[in-house]
Amino acid sequence: MSFSQTLARRDGALFIEDVPVRDLAEAHGTPLYVYSRAGLLERASRLLAAFGPDNLVAYSIKSNMNLAVVRTFVDAGCGVDVTSRGELERALRARADPRKIVYSGAGKRPDEIDRGLEAGLRMFNVESLDELAMIDARARAAGVVAPISFRLNPDVDARTHPKIATGLRTVKFGVPIEEAPAAYAHAKTLSNVEVVGVDCHIGSQLLSLEPMRDALLKLKTAVLSLRQAGHEIRLIDIGGGLGVEYQDGDVPPTPEEYADMALEVVGGLGAALVCEPGRSLTAGAGYLVSRVLYQKQNEQKSFVILDAGMNDYVRPAMYGSPVRVETESTRASAPVDLVGPVCESTDRFAEGYALPEVSNGDLVVFRDVGAYGFCMASTYNGRPLPAEVMVHGSRVERVRRRQSVEETWTGELQPQWDDEPTADDR
Ligand SMILES: *Cc1c(COP(=O)(O)O)cnc(C)c1O
Repeated sequence: MSFSQTLARRDGALFIEDVPVRDLAEAHGTPLYVYSRAGLLERASRLLAAFGPDNLVAYSIKSNMNLAVVRTFVDAGCGVDVTSRGELERALRARADPRKIVYSGAGKRPDEIDRGLEAGLRMFNVESLDELAMIDARARAAGVVAPISFRLNPDVDARTHPKIATGLRTVKFGVPIEEAPAAYAHAKTLSNVEVVGVDCHIGSQLLSLEPMRDALLKLKTAVLSLRQAGHEIRLIDIGGGLGVEYQDGDVPPTPEEYADMALEVVGGLGAALVCEPGRSLTAGAGYLVSRVLYQKQNEQKSFVILDAGMNDYVRPAMYGSPVRVETESTRASAPVDLVGPVCESTDRFAEGYALPEVSNGDLVVFRDVGAYGFCMASTYNGRPLPAEVMVHGSRVERVRRRQSVEETWTGELQPQWDDEPTADDR
């Protein structure tokens, strides 16, 4: 079963839930990120129900760290998967239970480890023996024992975009799965870490369950042999990576199919499962509302220039990701290049896109941008970060105000050696 549509067309006007997109654009300006609360909740509730109360759905906060979004998931019953101190603080601020927070990432700094220990997290997913030594040392200094699992790299090809595949030996992530016995044996000799589980994450935007099944089968074998060697494996973290429908024809596994597969392969081992979904909870519930600024043509191309640019939504420029947009007009027109105002040729959302005929000022709404959208936005070209709003039925709440131009230079200082500092600089 696919998800309910939260963007609809009524009498030619676009609505997100029960709010006309036109009203959102007028009240909050463009470019504007809009999240559908119903869309977020439907995705989270289905995954929570499919995994059941004995397992943990740890929302991968990196896909969208807006506090209101995180709170929505936390209130629905999710834990959080964090990859930095900043994400950890956000998770705590969104009232996540520290016992439902797992800490992933290949380069945790000592101060980040300290904060994680202080907060009392569920587990640290460890990616190298160097990191293990650091966690043990910091835990000893704090007089505590750190719960850990190793992120095992199963060497499977996730068959996704090369820039978001993480399960192969050629990437920096994890400990090779064959080295698990030695890594766990070593962990056992350390007094301030306690082995509690295993972890893997093979990549993102997986449209087939097969690579994940392959990885989990390898993980299962590892769990059984680690248990034989006397390690207590109470948690099996299967990572994130469930894909979403970015273009017509993409058919991602449903939350139920995903959970069924995981429970079938590693569910019967007497350990709780942890999953770390990011994109699959947020992408389809988020929209980016922009307006057409100008249009122009040369002998080869037609361009539609939007007021949203690659600084607002970088995935097309960074990964070549496809986009799908909606306009109120449905009159067919010749294909166009959909571009932004940023001074880079790569500031192009789509090439030869079948955009309906539009006029300057018309709305262009990007679908499926709730994941890795706002959180990857920058102020490049001196462009303030966009606003974010959340829609709930016919209600709208601003969940982040638009950055002002002045705020884009907040924190910058004039060097003291400047001859005549202005009053503002001090
Ligand atoms: C990015 C990441 C996730 C989430 O990936 P999605 O594709 O957004 O589901 C989960 N776990 C780890 C360790 C990650 O790095």
